[in-house]
Amino acid sequence: MTAQRCTSYHLTVGGSGAGQDWRLLPTAANDTLIDGTFCEACWPAALAAVRASISDHADAARPFEAVMPAVLVRAYLQHRDVAVRPPDTLDGLRGIIADALRLLDQIQARQGFWWRRAMCSGCGANPRELEITTLPWWNDGAGDYLTTFRCAACLGAAVADTRARLAANGNDDVARICAMFERHNVFLHEHRRGDPPDVVRPLLEQVLARIETGALVLPIGKTQSIA
Ligand SMILES: [Zn+2]
Ligand SMILES: [Zn+2]
Repeated sequence: MTAQRCTSYHLTVGGSGAGQDWRLLPTAANDTLIDGTFCEACWPAALAAVRASISDHADAARPFEAVMPAVLVRAYLQHRDVAVRPPDTLDGLRGIIADALRLLDQIQARQGFWWRRAMCSGCGANPRELEITTLPWWNDGAGDYLTTFRCAACLGAAVADTRARLAANGNDDVARICAMFERHNVFLHEHRRGDPPDVVRPLLEQVLARIETGALVLPIGKTQSIA
């Protein structure tokens, strides 16, 4: 494996498995955004810098200058096959800013991973990881809840299936789905302290709703070597 340079200018030499955890992030260069590759230590600051370039509100005096960093972020991602929300569906310049911040927040929630491809288990499409949602899914073969991947088009139906399964299958499913969430570092205090399933189930509904909107992300995480 060849050495790879972190865009923050310290050299890391590749070894077994090294290089897989680098983050590809939009990086400012001459009034545009180009690809930067950042190591584990540097990516949070690199992503924060891009976010900080975007003002949270449209400047009434200089509207187009104020929105330009958000336009650049959306263009950067769009040119790399990410579907940004069409401008005519957004609330003017303010909406463009909000959409760019949303996209960066989704990258942050995926621990800086967004460009890898993940296959939707619903339709077989393989969009960027940024457009894939990881959610709990009943697996008959395993007799348990495992995770599955869905693209934006397939997400609603899949969440509805998981809700229906949870509603129809009593107390055992509450414990099983809570265990799955815990494997992904999402903990329900009420479950852990032993509240009855009827108390926990509405909270699980809230968790599923947050997964569906993207407010909660179960990140795919780092790449594992193939043996
Ligand atoms: Zn670095
Ligand atoms: Zn799909």
